[in-house]
Amino acid sequence: MAEPTSLTPCPPWLLGHWQDVYKRHEQGSLPHALLFTGMPGIGKKQFVRFVAEALLCRHTNAQTGACGQCDACAQIQAGAHAELKVLNPEGAAMNIKVDAVRDLVVWLQLSAPRDQYRVALLDTADAMNHNAANSLLKTLEEPGERAVLILAADKPGSLPATVRSRCQSTNLTLRDQPAAINWLTEQGISDAAEQLVHANVGPLVLVERNSGEWQASRQALQKAWLDLFLMRASIGKIVDSVSDLPTTQCLSHFSHWAMLANKKHLNLPIGADPATTELVSEVHQGLDSEQWFSLYDRMQALYRSDSASFKTQTVLEGLFADIRTMTKA
Ligand SMILES: [Zn+2]
Repeated sequence: MAEPTSLTPCPPWLLGHWQDVYKRHEQGSLPHALLFTGMPGIGKKQFVRFVAEALLCRHTNAQTGACGQCDACAQIQAGAHAELKVLNPEGAAMNIKVDAVRDLVVWLQLSAPRDQYRVALLDTADAMNHNAANSLLKTLEEPGERAVLILAADKPGSLPATVRSRCQSTNLTLRDQPAAINWLTEQGISDAAEQLVHANVGPLVLVERNSGEWQASRQALQKAWLDLFLMRASIGKIVDSVSDLPTTQCLSHFSHWAMLANKKHLNLPIGADPATTELVSEVHQGLDSEQWFSLYDRMQALYRSDSASFKTQTVLEGLFADIRTMTKA
């Protein structure tokens, strides 16, 4: 039995996107497959969950989505709406498995009750492996009556073109920038407008980056990166200093910095963030452009592989030892 939940609010800056969906719903012309993309932190997952709930509600509206009062809303809140299925990534590799998609396909072929959508929600659609995505194709072409598939993807490029072309795609943007600034201000971010312009990420990531915890871990990673390249400490010591952080967080920072170091070698612009610019300037001479690129490539491959579930210590020890060998050569 699922835990009771509350209804999902629409991220305020995305309300205009909901109103587009609502209009199609009102006109009875809602496409049977919707794909939402957009920059990190724009609120894709929250938005698609909101849309799924709003479409199931009996008295949905353009301003707030689900009413929170009807029997459908009560079922959603009880985690037990019969016409809603959510497909989440699972396992160490965090994939959506082909068997899960096949079950979903069978379910979607049954017709939904009268005057009711049947909604399938895949908020991490790019986590479908190739076979899983292929299994979804036929359903995307001929879903059951009143079936709606709602997909969100950080990396829509990882979805097969055949899947993308069968969905109506919407790139979620900061349609209502003042609403985003208001919301960020409420979260305690004082220079929200400026950060939004420069950060190239959505409000949700900005909030995370302004948290004390994120700042502290970024500083620890930055120090580790400098210590490694400037030979200021042993590998064991450096790894220890960041071994409490998730492997993925370490790899995403380090691979980003490696990519920027390569850009610096190539005299390409590396962005405006002063702390990052300084960090990259201090270490970029340690390796040549080709070495930075292969290091970036390797960390990206690690990031995407199962190694994300390995201990940080194991992953970093091997990586750092090889970096030290390269810098000495
Ligand atoms: Zn309702």
